Amino acid sequence: MADKTLVCQDCGKEFVFTEGEQKFYAEKGFENEPKRCPDCRRARKQQKRSFERR
Ligand SMILES: [Zn+2]
Repeated sequence: MADKTLVCQDCGKEFVFTEGEQKFYAEKGFENEPKRCPDCRRARKQQKRSFERR
């Protein structure tokens, strides 16, 4: 396995899906690669949290 460069679905920026992350995903049984960069993932999490609080 090697680091992979993916393009974020939300902002279109490239981000690295590292070897370690790929291993983590494989261990968890996730079949899909991440579609968003860490920044967008964090932003979405925060959005969801503030939505749930309502
Ligand atoms: Zn992004």
